[in-house]
Amino acid sequence: MKSEKRNPKAEENPRPETRRVGDRRSGLSGGISRRAAIGLGAAGVVGLAGAASLFDLFAKWRESEAPADIFKGDAPAGELWALWQKRGWVKEGRHYLKLGRNVQCKVCPNNCILEPGDRSHCRNRINRDGTLYTLVYGNPCTFHVDPVEKKPLYHFMPGTQTFSLATSGCVFRCLNCQNWEISQKKPEETKDPHGEELRLRPPLPSSLSLEQMSRLSLFPEDVVAVTETLGCPSISYTYSEPTAFYEYTQDTCQAARARKLKNIVVSCGSIEERPARDLYQFVDAAHVDLKGFDEDIYQKLNAGKLQPILNTLKTLRELGVWFEIINLVVPTYTDNPDTIRRMCAWIAKELGPDQPLHFSRFQPQHKLTHLAPTPVETLMKARDSARAEGLHYVYIGNVPGLEDAGTTWCPNCKKAVIERDIFAVTRMNLTDGKCKFCGTKIAGVWKT
Ligand code: SF4
Repeated sequence: MKSEKRNPKAEENPRPETRRVGDRRSGLSGGISRRAAIGLGAAGVVGLAGAASLFDLFAKWRESEAPADIFKGDAPAGELWALWQKRGWVKEGRHYLKLGRNVQCKVCPNNCILEPGDRSHCRNRINRDGTLYTLVYGNPCTFHVDPVEKKPLYHFMPGTQTFSLATSGCVFRCLNCQNWEISQKKPEETKDPHGEELRLRPPLPSSLSLEQMSRLSLFPEDVVAVTETLGCPSISYTYSEPTAFYEYTQDTCQAARARKLKNIVVSCGSIEERPARDLYQFVDAAHVDLKGFDEDIYQKLNAGKLQPILNTLKTLRELGVWFEIINLVVPTYTDNPDTIRRMCAWIAKELGPDQPLHFSRFQPQHKLTHLAPTPVETLMKARDSARAEGLHYVYIGNVPGLEDAGTTWCPNCKKAVIERDIFAVTRMNLTDGKCKFCGTKIAGVWKT
């Protein structure tokens, strides 16, 4: 694997022609060139002045972006590229700008600028002859059937199973990543377009070998057919980062919605607003990792930024998508009690007291094997803080045997309305989404 390097050249002067591609919401698919946009205002001095300030604004906007680290000259070429195309694992990206022969992806705040032949920070996108392509369309590297509680989602169709899939790649570089074997890999490290293509269609085999997985194609309509055959009411885009397989996620969500299946996105929340709105219109539930509440720690621990995640949470609330937040408490990184309290206060104020929050226990892994697991006491103090800030539904995860760690309490009569044992629902005292004891409405989506 090539090392990641900054691409200083890409920050230089963009070529004059600039267009946004694939913005479905605007209906401007195919784009409008900046030259054309300037031309609209060019009929006179006032128009020219307007065009000049537009240009300045555009230049400033570009300068304010921090281009992500990318893999220089690492896009697949030759036979590999031809095979990838033949399999249908290539699709033109959505939400990107053409800067002459360079492209800039606008899906996540990394805003990668790629010269021809470059590969993106998330490893899944390339610039081929001035066009941005995703390499992870219809080629998941893993799938499973999971309880929805495993996402974790505790207030969304409890007790149901969800068909869960992922491709390689991620927009973050978390030191504590649980799934780094796929999230920190290129598509070519998890998939192989040589040999016979395997399309998974009913009737389904009981299992697939790793070799078969590497040849597997599972296009959106296949995902829907497999999910229906398995009797799952939902599809989860999870394990790595759905933002890094945006087009595949979006098209599958759309196909699933048409068949009345639910869509669940499990994400770090690092996505730009326009692609978020375009995607989440088809999404029924999300689980968002709020990895901390400090910009410096986000940079150190995740190579990411906090503010875009907060923006995404607000956008989800505005769109009416059901979502739950998880916060992994990592010793020496995200276990500061004051920071946890500030985070809880923000959630209560901006998202409301009915926003579920899961504190999760860190286990040593990936690049943080030298740290000890989070002390259970730290997690319990975090839960106390969240409750003190007014949050009604606060959980502790990853601590088997901890009493009431996954219990949902009625905020009114304080009785247990849902009891869980790890991922299994063991008791349900809900009737039509209301507490069986006092009739108080419990926030969530309770019907399939
Ligand atoms: S989605 Fe990938 S290519 Fe696009 S900006 Fe984010 S990291 Fe870069």
